[in-house]
Amino acid sequence: MMNSPHILIVDDDVALLQALPQALSLRMEGAKVDTSDSALGALKLIGENHYDAIVSDIKMPGMDGLALLANIQELRPDTPTLLITGHGEHNLAIQALRGGAYDFIQKPIDRDYLVAALNRAIQTHQLRRQVLEQQLALELHARSLEDTVQKRTQELVAANATKDKFLRIVSHELKTPLTNLKAMAQLLHRQLERAESAEVLCKGLTNMERSIQRMEVLVNDLLDTSLIETNMFVVHRKRCDLVALCRQLIDEYTAGAGPTLTFECLGEPVEVQVDADRIGQVIINLLSNARKYSPKGSPITLTLEQAGYECTISIRDMGVGIPAEMQPHIFEPFYRAPGVEVQSGSNAGLGLGLYISRKIVERHGGHIDVQSTPGEGSIFSVVLPLFVDPTAESTDAAKLAPHTQAQWAIAH
Ligand code: ADP
Repeated sequence: MMNSPHILIVDDDVALLQALPQALSLRMEGAKVDTSDSALGALKLIGENHYDAIVSDIKMPGMDGLALLANIQELRPDTPTLLITGHGEHNLAIQALRGGAYDFIQKPIDRDYLVAALNRAIQTHQLRRQVLEQQLALELHARSLEDTVQKRTQELVAANATKDKFLRIVSHELKTPLTNLKAMAQLLHRQLERAESAEVLCKGLTNMERSIQRMEVLVNDLLDTSLIETNMFVVHRKRCDLVALCRQLIDEYTAGAGPTLTFECLGEPVEVQVDADRIGQVIINLLSNARKYSPKGSPITLTLEQAGYECTISIRDMGVGIPAEMQPHIFEPFYRAPGVEVQSGSNAGLGLGLYISRKIVERHGGHIDVQSTPGEGSIFSVVLPLFVDPTAESTDAAKLAPHTQAQWAIAH
């Protein structure tokens, strides 16, 4: 389909120059026809416009049609040019075709023949242009595909490097407790053979249990991480009271010794809808870190605050704190943190605990943050949405105002 072809007619015969555009406009829908009475004038127009076809008389004073054709071939090699020859001027017609003309039209001009020839020329021209455009689009597409392949390859290489780093860290981490277990087992074996005292054996077994525990945490963390990364991590949420949950966790954590100082808004539950095991895992992880990274005897507190439709569990320690440059990566696994390399047997952990904690809290529609000053300690805050009973008539404004629901100081 042609869309409004733009045609140029060049002829020194002014009468023809007036008659032809009219004839073409009548026979070719939407055609726009420009005219020029000289080859030089035509060249100027050709420089300014992209014509779909050019029709020119061969015999013109000054530059003739053949010279104009040669110029068009230079200037617009794709534009089809039709030359008008006198009746029986076969030589000129052949010259025109050899010079690159698309067709020739004999005088006297048969209007229908001219229109048919023009239509053919324009159609061929437009088809050629379409092919060119498609070729260009294909080339662009091929280039973008190439870029994508290159990008994906780079990503794969990076992912592979991350995996290698991960395996390196995991093997270092597993090696330490394993070496310890092996040494302890050999020692106990020798002592058994020599029938040493039960006290020595007991110490050895305690030591082994610690190593086994460490490996257990590691393996569980690895399993959780793999579930998270493959989108198979499931939480089973149930309505529960966060005050009771925290109290129970602290009791377990302090092995029944209980917190040293307690404040609880008696009888005021903080209702949430959570997977108690998973939220428990987060809190125990934060408490263990607080204990691990603060000196013995320094206080650790767990505070439960409520504000609006959210509650915040904060765990505060007065320990070593977190270096500023590490804080942005604290909730990412070490193997993904830039510039973190783990030394063999460094006992530094995999950095999975906080990562898993963040994922668990996020799965509950909450978030976890840290505020820390090196040398002064850290506060980890877990923010969870409260359970809102859709059937409840109205909520007490006092309940929505920020207030502390409970606080426990933990013996350390
Ligand atoms: P891991 O599971 O290997 O112990 P975590 O994800 O629990 O790792 O913690 C990541 C890192 O964050 C720790 O190695 C430690 O450097 C830092 N960190 C976590 N909690 C504390 C804290 N309470 N005080 C100081 N540093 C902390």
